[in-house]
Amino acid sequence: MKKTWVDKGLCIGCEACVSVDEDDVLFMDEDGLAEAKENNKELKTCQMVCPTGAIKIGDKE
Ligand code: SF4
Repeated sequence: MKKTWVDKGLCIGCEACVSVDEDDVLFMDEDGLAEAKENNKELKTCQMVCPTGAIKIGDKE
Protein backbone atom coordinates (compact mmCIF):
# COMPACT_ATOMS: atom_id res chain seq x y z
CA MET A 1 0.00 0.00 0.00
CA LYS A 2 1.29 3.44 -0.91
CA LYS A 3 -0.04 6.72 0.39
CA THR A 4 1.99 8.85 -1.96
CA TRP A 5 2.53 7.34 -5.41
CA VAL A 6 3.60 8.35 -8.90
CA ASP A 7 1.47 8.31 -12.04
CA LYS A 8 4.26 7.29 -14.38
CA GLY A 9 2.21 8.21 -17.41
CA LEU A 10 2.60 11.84 -16.35
CA CYS A 11 6.18 11.77 -15.07
CA ILE A 12 8.82 13.43 -17.28
CA GLY A 13 11.79 12.44 -15.12
CA CYS A 14 12.79 15.93 -14.00
CA GLU A 15 13.82 14.70 -10.51
CA ALA A 16 12.30 17.74 -8.76
CA CYS A 17 10.27 15.53 -6.40
CA VAL A 18 13.27 13.45 -5.36
CA SER A 19 15.31 16.57 -4.64
CA VAL A 20 12.84 17.80 -2.00
CA ASP A 21 11.88 14.40 -0.56
CA GLU A 22 13.20 14.57 3.00
CA ASP A 23 11.53 11.24 3.87
CA ASP A 24 13.51 9.39 1.20
CA VAL A 25 10.40 7.72 -0.19
CA LEU A 26 10.85 8.64 -3.84
CA PHE A 27 13.59 7.43 -6.16
CA MET A 28 14.29 7.35 -9.87
CA ASP A 29 13.72 3.94 -11.48
CA GLU A 30 15.73 2.27 -14.25
CA ASP A 31 13.65 4.08 -16.87
CA GLY A 32 14.41 7.49 -15.38
CA LEU A 33 10.95 7.93 -13.93
CA ALA A 34 10.06 8.63 -10.31
CA GLU A 35 8.84 5.74 -8.15
CA ALA A 36 7.67 5.58 -4.54
CA LYS A 37 8.64 2.98 -1.96
CA GLU A 38 5.92 1.54 0.23
CA ASN A 39 4.97 4.47 2.45
CA ASN A 40 2.35 6.05 4.63
CA LYS A 41 3.43 9.63 3.94
CA GLU A 42 1.64 12.57 2.44
CA LEU A 43 4.48 14.13 0.48
CA LYS A 44 2.82 17.44 -0.21
CA THR A 45 6.02 19.34 -0.92
CA CYS A 46 6.96 16.76 -3.54
CA GLN A 47 3.49 17.02 -5.01
CA MET A 48 3.75 20.82 -5.15
CA VAL A 49 7.05 20.89 -7.02
CA CYS A 50 6.02 18.35 -9.66
CA PRO A 51 5.43 20.26 -12.91
CA THR A 52 3.12 17.63 -14.39
CA GLY A 53 0.88 16.59 -11.49
CA ALA A 54 2.34 13.08 -11.44
CA ILE A 55 2.61 12.84 -7.64
CA LYS A 56 -0.64 11.46 -6.25
CA ILE A 57 -1.68 11.37 -2.60
CA GLY A 58 -4.25 8.79 -1.58
CA ASP A 59 -4.15 5.07 -0.95
CA LYS A 60 -3.06 2.91 -3.86
CA GLU A 61 -2.94 -0.88 -3.68
S1 SF4 B 1 8.68 16.00 -10.11
FE1 SF4 B 1 7.02 14.96 -11.22
S2 SF4 B 1 7.73 14.86 -13.34
FE2 SF4 B 1 9.52 15.33 -12.06
S3 SF4 B 1 10.42 13.29 -11.62
FE3 SF4 B 1 9.01 13.78 -9.94
S4 SF4 B 1 7.05 12.81 -10.54
FE4 SF4 B 1 8.33 12.94 -12.36
